[in-house]
Amino acid sequence: MTTLDGKPASEVARADTATQVPAGEPDTCRQTPAQVADRLGVDPGVGLDTGQVFERAAVHGANRLSEPARRPEWLKFLDQFRNWLIAILLIAAVVAGAIGDIRDAVVITVVLQINAVLGYWQERRAERSLEALRRMLVPLARVRRDGTEQEVKAQSLVPGDVVLLEAGGRVPADGRLTVAETVEVDEAALTGESQPVAKSVTAVDHTATAPVPLAERTSMLFMNTALTRGRAEMIVTATGMRTEVGSIAEALRTGTEPPSPLQVQLDSLGRRLAVLSGVAVVAYALSAWVRGESLSDIALRAVALAVAAIPEGLPAVLALTLALGVHRMARRGAIVKRLASVESLGAATVVCSDKTGTLTLNEMTARTLWTEGRLYDVTGEGYGTTGALRVPGADDTSPPDDLRAAVLPFALCNDARLTSGYFIGDPTEAALVVLAAKAGVDADWMRTELPRVGELPFDGATKYMATFHTEPDGRTRVHVKGAVDVLLGMCTDVRTEDGARALDEGHRDEILAVTARFGSSGLRVLGAATALMDFGPSAFTPVELPGLTLVSIAGIADPPRPQARDAMALCRTAGVAVKMITGDHADTAAAIARELDIAGDVVTGAELDRMTEEQLAERVDDIGVFARVAPDHKVVIVRALANRGHIVAMTGDGVNDAAALKAAHIGVAMGITGTDVAKEAADVVLTDDDFSTIVRAVREGRAIYANIVKFVRFQLATNIGAILTLLGASLAGLPSPLTAAQLLWINIIMDGPPAMALAVDPARDDVMQHPPRDPRERILDARRLLAIGWAGAVMATGTVTLLAVARSYVDPDTALTMAFTTFVLYQLFNALSARGDDGPLLGRYQFRNRALWLCLGGVLAVQVAVVQLPWARTVFGTVPLTVTQWALCLGTASTVLLAESVLRAVRSALRNHRCHITAR
Ligand code: ATP
Repeated sequence: MTTLDGKPASEVARADTATQVPAGEPDTCRQTPAQVADRLGVDPGVGLDTGQVFERAAVHGANRLSEPARRPEWLKFLDQFRNWLIAILLIAAVVAGAIGDIRDAVVITVVLQINAVLGYWQERRAERSLEALRRMLVPLARVRRDGTEQEVKAQSLVPGDVVLLEAGGRVPADGRLTVAETVEVDEAALTGESQPVAKSVTAVDHTATAPVPLAERTSMLFMNTALTRGRAEMIVTATGMRTEVGSIAEALRTGTEPPSPLQVQLDSLGRRLAVLSGVAVVAYALSAWVRGESLSDIALRAVALAVAAIPEGLPAVLALTLALGVHRMARRGAIVKRLASVESLGAATVVCSDKTGTLTLNEMTARTLWTEGRLYDVTGEGYGTTGALRVPGADDTSPPDDLRAAVLPFALCNDARLTSGYFIGDPTEAALVVLAAKAGVDADWMRTELPRVGELPFDGATKYMATFHTEPDGRTRVHVKGAVDVLLGMCTDVRTEDGARALDEGHRDEILAVTARFGSSGLRVLGAATALMDFGPSAFTPVELPGLTLVSIAGIADPPRPQARDAMALCRTAGVAVKMITGDHADTAAAIARELDIAGDVVTGAELDRMTEEQLAERVDDIGVFARVAPDHKVVIVRALANRGHIVAMTGDGVNDAAALKAAHIGVAMGITGTDVAKEAADVVLTDDDFSTIVRAVREGRAIYANIVKFVRFQLATNIGAILTLLGASLAGLPSPLTAAQLLWINIIMDGPPAMALAVDPARDDVMQHPPRDPRERILDARRLLAIGWAGAVMATGTVTLLAVARSYVDPDTALTMAFTTFVLYQLFNALSARGDDGPLLGRYQFRNRALWLCLGGVLAVQVAVVQLPWARTVFGTVPLTVTQWALCLGTASTVLLAESVLRAVRSALRNHRCHITAR
């Protein structure tokens, strides 16, 4: 294989590496596309062949920016010991060992190891889940290789590859432009320039010998910048660390995610509890000292109590819950990019959804075509070209010859390509290629006959697309397709059977009536227009388009997604409002909204423009459909909803949607049809573009939040229970019911398996049956704090009372073992009672978490071992219990469930009472 210079490609590649070409090769921008193609040994119309790609990849490596070095696993394990409590415990163990208390020293050391392994495992699992998630968002690039267009991993790009880009696409490597149609690029990531920069294929004319400054290399595209407008092709000139962005060290530092509001809340809660526990531990130590206990015993127990009482394990369980939760969501089609979004998802009150492709299938079929004086039905299904255009009721089945002219703009002003029932490109455009084929126009053939010499790409804001073609007589003709109301503003004539006629009011009314009729049957409406140009294709701008002749109007069906209706019903019961936001015609949008049961008024973009911010905020709750909107309107809508106190999820796919996706509390980008820019701006990416996936994510967000509440409740009730038990026993003049070793064992139960099992609890069936939680709600409101305090008090009272009573009947060691066992068993029931704030405690739901029951069974089995097995008894200082004594412990421990039931019953009675009074 040789390059155009006659050198073997591998030699060229080797030469590149040998000289370590500086990033971006500053002089490339001064060369013509042909020179660059020549140097890199590629024909831009064909691309590299597989062999070349393979060879160059071997020399240049993957097109990837190097990541910061990973922290070794053993250091991450050691991190588990970097905690002042653990440090104190370690010192305590050493001291205990030194004064001859080998048993406590061993127990403390073993428990610390178990704790560290557990913490390390939790962190690793969370990390793995998040890594797997990141791998799901691997960037792709569209290239031309071996003469065909294909999608490849951006990582596999090599110098010489021909890359194809559209508006919204992220530039995957540095490259020299070979095609640039109205290209604008956001280079803020590289140059800090916030305004998009225009780019062209023209070589930069820079006379100075010094390298051309980055911002002036207008014939180049740079990795990690984004195309905000137009269409481009480039030859890759530098990949990976040799790109401009690769040479900026700072750009490689991946920022760590700031803590979510919930993490901040839990951190501050943890700190406050640590202070409280500290005070309680000191109080306990003082009272034990007053009672004359040995100082070394008090010290050891006080430290162990601090470990058991301070919820130091909360952040790890929280991180794991969120990570596992987002992993579960990803498996169901919603990739959450920021953990904090899980919280917002659970609190979402409004979902603003695009219509096309999210609420509808994006499977477009042209059903009807209007030309002046005739209306055709279009037969055939999907993207196959079998079918025909028929005038309904007419006997004559052969369409008139001039029908071909009526669909020509649809075929030429179009980038979609059909291959035996499949298509590449935009579904709307593919449907129009199919329509053209059914009317006798082969789009591919026409595109070679009448070559395109320029274009104005489709833009959601302008709502039309135009292409310029050279006619056989050498003149230039413009073909336009787009929204009919927009086209009407650009048309001066309408095509009739007798040639072009001036558009009069009658025609305009008829055309608008046709559009409304198509729209109200849910059809997407596009018009086609054309005109001969008086000037060449060099300086096309929208204002320079001549007066157009409208030739036809197509009505395209795009059925609603079958699951969307059910998802909509679920939103209603869950108190989540749904608003459809679409660029489509108001009638089309209203018809689809009716089919999907979306309630509310229909407001158009033009009407929005006339409203003040206050007027919109006042009406926004009553609006169900925003039609004919431009992407900018989405930001206005998000702001109005946020002003009303809503938590807004907003979908988007285009480059212009990025601002709205960022402004919304939860930006949701489409994974299939979405642009790279939209995906980057979003918090959540849908892998299936389906509206019902958003609703599932909201459900999952609620379930995750509920689980966080569950394990926080579980852990804090145990913490408070432990403190109150030791304090209570001490104040009652009883010996301490829990030794240091026992306290540490309880700590493992708390931070360990049961807490994690609660973290993956399945959602309750009614999770979407109540309104969203108030986003300002604190995770521990007065109601939950009361429940926690109540459970802790019950545990302490039960344990201390049992100890006091048992001492009158059995020997002191048995009584102490019974107290310890009771406290551990309390935690089993505590885990069950923490699974919700309301409703019946015993029911089918209690049996739906197998992991929890396994954990509880495990804890019980280990506790039996700790009490009954001789070697464990020496470690924990316990004595064996009889079956009756076990039953007694179990019975006492179950009171925490009973207490929770009483609390719920009282609350429900109070609620009913309040409702009763309000009703009266
Ligand atoms: P959404 O995806 O937000 O629900 P949409 O996809 O229906 O909205 P747009 O794609 O912005 O909205 O389309 C708005 C209008 O622009 C359509 O009603 C149609 O008339 C016209 N249009 C859509 N696609 C094209 C295209 N490829 N070329 C020309 N005009 C188009």
